[in-house]
Amino acid sequence: MKFRCHNCGSTQYHEGMINNVFEIEGQLHLVKNIPAIICDRCEEKFFKPEIYEKIYDIIHKKELIKATVEADVYEFA
Ligand SMILES: [Zn+2]
Repeated sequence: MKFRCHNCGSTQYHEGMINNVFEIEGQLHLVKNIPAIICDRCEEKFFKPEIYEKIYDIIHKKELIKATVEADVYEFA
């Protein structure tokens, strides 16, 4: 795969598992252990298109919910 970070321009990356929150129609979804591509220089995280598809599949299946958490919400400004 040809990688070029759109944040810092680095072409070096590593792969890892990350947790990420997705907001869909005002509802927050925390998805854990997503395989991601992580920029070596700035740590910006990217998902392959097929990973995005899988994430949206998962989020739309209520039976796959593992846990529900409470979260504190802040506004910076
Ligand atoms: Zn970068």
